[in-house]
Amino acid sequence: MTTEALRIALVLPDLLGTYGDRGNVLVLEKRLAWRGIPCETVTVLSSSDPLPASCDLYVLGGGEDVAQQAAVRFLSRGNGLQRAVQRGAPVLGICGGLQVLGTAFTTGDGARHDGLGLVDAVTTPGERRAIGEVTTHSTLDEVGVLTGFENHLGRTVLGSGSKPLGRVVRGIGNGHDSAEGAVTGRVVCTYLHGPVLARNPVLADLLLEWAVGERLAPVPEVPELDALRAERTRPNLRVRK
Ligand code: GLN
Repeated sequence: MTTEALRIALVLPDLLGTYGDRGNVLVLEKRLAWRGIPCETVTVLSSSDPLPASCDLYVLGGGEDVAQQAAVRFLSRGNGLQRAVQRGAPVLGICGGLQVLGTAFTTGDGARHDGLGLVDAVTTPGERRAIGEVTTHSTLDEVGVLTGFENHLGRTVLGSGSKPLGRVVRGIGNGHDSAEGAVTGRVVCTYLHGPVLARNPVLADLLLEWAVGERLAPVPEVPELDALRAERTRPNLRVRK
């Protein structure tokens, strides 16, 4: 394993940070620290230079219509994210981040905007906001049940270039085909806030293993985390018909 610090890019928290999704980066930092792996978080703001292509892992949070358009404009400059994805860097995109990483999204005023096209996902506004708890069964090996909180108007249809991150057990998710989120290669997108990695540490470790390039040692036992997760998964699964 490299002794150089793993570089995590927190992408545009000033635009895509409405729902506290930067907490995902805190989770990644903590899980690396528990394993003695040095890391450095590179925070890239909309006033910063273009996004570097050299980071090991990229995290985008949620945001609203105007912020999403500004994020696409920023991320189209220099194509740092696109180049990072081409060399296999993992990316996590949440909600508005999913829509920005997708092929296209239509905003509340009816205007259609190109996304970055890193996942094959087209988003249009639904009739009402999807708000509430979500539970899914992940399509990714060894990830299992995912939980989170959704708050979005957009409904997302996946093309053949992406598969869902999960199948909805409870909640709305993408709003089509029981799908939740979008995965293309190592670009992982979801509507789950929470932050999603705090609620689903297995997903955090999968992203970290992709970034580090090897299996990671188990983290020290934190009984409180297990208790919280049990609380969030069990009742959700019971309400499903
Ligand atoms: N603006 C998007 C929607 O409402 C994303 C919202 C979010 O990031 N929570 O669909």
